[in-house]
Amino acid sequence: MNASVSFWEQRWADKADIVVIGAGLVGLQSAIKLKQKFSHRKVWIIESSTFGSPASLRNAGFACFGSLGEVLDDAKNIGLDDALGLYALRYQGLQKLIAAYGETTIGYENSGGYEIFKNSESQEFDRIAQHVDSVNEKLFEIHGQMSFQIKKSSSFGMDIHPSAIFSPGEGAIQTHLLYETIRKHALSLGIEIFSGLQIETFHQLDSLKWNLKFANSDISIVAKELIICTNGFTRQILPELDVAPARGQVLVTEPIPTLPFRGIFHYDKGYVYFRSLGARILIGGARNIDFKGEETMSQETTEQLVSHLKNILNEVIVPGMNPIIDYQWAGTMGMASDRQPIIKKVDEHLHCCVRMGGMGVALSAWASEKLVNLID
Ligand SMILES: Cc1cc2nc3c(=O)[nH]c(=O)nc-3n(C[C@H](O)[C@H](O)[C@H](O)COP(=O)(O)OP(=O)(O)OC[C@H]3O[C@@H](n4cnc5c(N)ncnc54)[C@H](O)[C@@H]3O)c2cc1C
Repeated sequence: MNASVSFWEQRWADKADIVVIGAGLVGLQSAIKLKQKFSHRKVWIIESSTFGSPASLRNAGFACFGSLGEVLDDAKNIGLDDALGLYALRYQGLQKLIAAYGETTIGYENSGGYEIFKNSESQEFDRIAQHVDSVNEKLFEIHGQMSFQIKKSSSFGMDIHPSAIFSPGEGAIQTHLLYETIRKHALSLGIEIFSGLQIETFHQLDSLKWNLKFANSDISIVAKELIICTNGFTRQILPELDVAPARGQVLVTEPIPTLPFRGIFHYDKGYVYFRSLGARILIGGARNIDFKGEETMSQETTEQLVSHLKNILNEVIVPGMNPIIDYQWAGTMGMASDRQPIIKKVDEHLHCCVRMGGMGVALSAWASEKLVNLID
C-alpha cells in the first residue's frame, strides 16, 4: 500500500498510452507528432522542471546550421560528406519548424550569420576562406544559393579581422516564442504535460508496460510506450547512452542605443557566440576555456567563464563601451564527440531522441519526425 497516493490519483496515473520524458523542444514535438499519428492514444509528457526547460528556454536562439570553420572541423572527425549531411539536416530541420509555425509566430529573423576572426587569426581566416567555393558547390543543392560568402566586417565596430565569412541563410528566433508556440500546440491536441516530476527509474511490468518511479513523488505511472527526450540529463536514466552534459553560460547586456550591428556571430572557432537582441547583445559559450569543468548538469554560472565572456564583450565586440549585464544564466546541452543525435529503439516500446549537440533549435523538428517514424 502507498500511504501518500490517493486511489483516484493512481487511477488517473494508470491511463497513459505513451509517456514522453522531457518537455523540451524535442519532447514537445515528439509528443505532437505521436498524437497526430496515433490520435486515439493518450500522450503524456513528464517534465522535472516546474517552469521552463534547461536547454529549450535557456538557449541563445540561433537558427544556425554551422559556420564554415565548424563544418571543416567536423569534417576532420566524421569526413566532409557527413559534416555536410549534418549541416543539411539542421537546414531542413529549420525549414520544417518555420513551415509548421510560421516565421512571425516564432520571432524568426533572417539576419544572416557571420563567422568572425581575431585580429591575430589571418592565417586561420585564409585556411577556412579557401574552402568557400568548393563547399558552396556541394551545398548548392540544399540551399539553391551560396551558403558562404566573404564579407568586410569593418562596419560592425568590433576589434576583429577585417573579413568575415557570411552565411545568408542563418538567422535568429525569439526562444520563448518558439517554446510557447510549440507547448500551446501540444496542449491544444489534448496532450497532458505534468511538470515538477523527476523520473528516477523505470522498469518493465510485463512485455507490454513500463512502470515509472519518481524521485520526488510516490505516484507511479504506467505506460505502454516510453520515449526518452532528456538530452543533457540522459545519463541519469539511461547511463549506457553516450551523452555528456555540457553547460552553456549566457549573458545579456543592457540595451545599447548605438549598437552598430545586427545578426548572429560565431567567434573563437564557434565556441563563443553572440547576437543582437533588439538593442542588447546576447553572448555565450566559451566551454573551450574549461571543457572538463563544463561537463556538468549544474546550471550555475561561473566566475571564470563569465569574466572571459565579459572580456570578449568589452575588448572585442563593443570595445570601450562596457555595457552593464542585465541577465546571466546557464543551461545544459547534450554532447559527444560524435555530433549526430541518438534517435533509436532502446528496448521493446522504449525509444530515445537525445544528444542535440547544441543545435536543437534547428534539429528538433527533423529529429522528432525521425523518432516518430520508428514507432508503430
Ligand atoms: C546556453 C545554451 C545555448 C544554446 N544555444 C542554441 C542556439 O543558439 N541554437 C540552437 O540550435 N541550439 C542551442 N542550444 C541547444 C538547444 O537549446 C538544445 O539542443 C535543445 O533545446 C534541446 O532540446 P531537448 O528537448 O532535447 O532538451 P531540453 O530542452 O534540455 O529538454 C529536456 C527536458 O527533459 C527534462 N528532464 C531531464 N531529465 C528528466 C527526468 N529524469 N525526469 C523528467 N524530466 C527530465 C529536462 O528538465 C528538460 O526540460 C543551446 C543550449 C544552451 C544550454
